[in-house]
Amino acid sequence: MPRRRSKGTDPLLTTMHWRVTVRRYWLAQRQACARCGAAIDYDTGRYLPGTRKVNPRSLAVGHIVGRDQAKRLGWPDAEINALSNTQPEHARCSDRSGAAYGHAKRRRARAPLRTSRNW
Ligand SMILES: [Zn+2]
Repeated sequence: MPRRRSKGTDPLLTTMHWRVTVRRYWLAQRQACARCGAAIDYDTGRYLPGTRKVNPRSLAVGHIVGRDQAKRLGWPDAEINALSNTQPEHARCSDRSGAAYGHAKRRRARAPLRTSRNW
């Protein structure tokens, strides 16, 4: 079966899709963090007011199947970045999951994604 050529492979279009469609969608949904279940701060914005520090409770759009993993599974870019493979996360939880994944990969362990609810 020939693979359909997708516009999603153009990095610029992918970025536009990501920023305009995916991020806007989750901003409108105002759901809780998919990783820890706590509310996301949709009102403050990405940076803490008056600082250049990222607001740890701001929205970060995360992948359900991580980019690395999806690529190894042979997913086309358009599918990796499709809305259906994204979820709302805290900036803080998103960073943590990326780190945990990289760590697990290095150790080649079956390390579970640890999500804590008591913080
Ligand atoms: Zn969270």
